Amino acid sequence: MKIMGKKQQTIKSPVNISGTGLHTGNEVILSFLPAPENHGYKFRRIDLNPDILVPANVDHVIDTSRGTSIEYQGVRIDTVEHVLATLAGLGIDNVLVELNQSETPILDGSAGLYVEKLLEAGLVEQNADRVYFELKSNVSYANEEKKVELIAIPSNEFRISVMIDFDARVLPPQSAILNKISQFKDEIAPCRTFVFLHELEYLLQNNLIKGGDVNNAIVFVNRAVTQRELDHLTGLFKKPRIEVRNEGILNNLELKFSNEPARHKLLDLIGDLALIGMPIKAQIIATRPGHHSNVQFAKLIKNLIKQEGSKEEISMIDFVQPTHFVIKQ
Ligand SMILES: [Zn+2]
Repeated sequence: MKIMGKKQQTIKSPVNISGTGLHTGNEVILSFLPAPENHGYKFRRIDLNPDILVPANVDHVIDTSRGTSIEYQGVRIDTVEHVLATLAGLGIDNVLVELNQSETPILDGSAGLYVEKLLEAGLVEQNADRVYFELKSNVSYANEEKKVELIAIPSNEFRISVMIDFDARVLPPQSAILNKISQFKDEIAPCRTFVFLHELEYLLQNNLIKGGDVNNAIVFVNRAVTQRELDHLTGLFKKPRIEVRNEGILNNLELKFSNEPARHKLLDLIGDLALIGMPIKAQIIATRPGHHSNVQFAKLIKNLIKQEGSKEEISMIDFVQPTHFVIKQ
């Protein structure tokens, strides 16, 4: 049974965005280019030869330690999650993302600027129908040791709720909810990444992030700090004076929402789930999600799609049975 509905979308014209990679510190130019129907999301490194397209596919994830990295035929793309969240969040189906180095720009630590640029480019409807994966039963992932749980429940509307808890007094448990994907643009995309001060110091000392531009993260201060330490940080943040705000965060920035961290985790989850390769009809309930668990969860759903792919063919021949899982809308 074919259900007619929304068409696939791409962007009207190419658009560029430049910035710095968070982990490499390298300057990068990222371009979003229109792509044909059923192309999906693919990355291309224009600094490398031969010319290889890297599909945004969860099967190609090779690292989830600081962000989500994918690699295909030896070509690596780092920190794909904010780019993919933006594309999925705006309902864009087909785009080619070109980069002149391995890592996407961190920008202000959110997806706000990606949204701005893509909307500036404009969206255009294509002829093919969008294909969704419609969940028929619950899919769940749990890691008891890490107290992580992700559940997908069949739902006609794509919804996500996220709960975070770091056992930190300065960042008590909080949650964020996305009831409609149309809320993504204003309520989720502008939310920035966050770190704890001790993590930031570790990252800086071990050269895992480069100094000079650390204003793209909310920094939670979960231990006593001396003014001397703060003065040292002042240089890194390039701010006149770094101090700890009442909320327990550094004054390098102001929170946009009281639950901005949970909203950012929701953003990351949307980005990682985009690696499934098609939008899903499900409600996701995530407790303490992270890139590793997001990717494992996306793999579970992707495997379900692969398994049911054969049934889909059968059900399309046998019209007595309703189509199992792929509906067109
Ligand atoms: Zn993120």
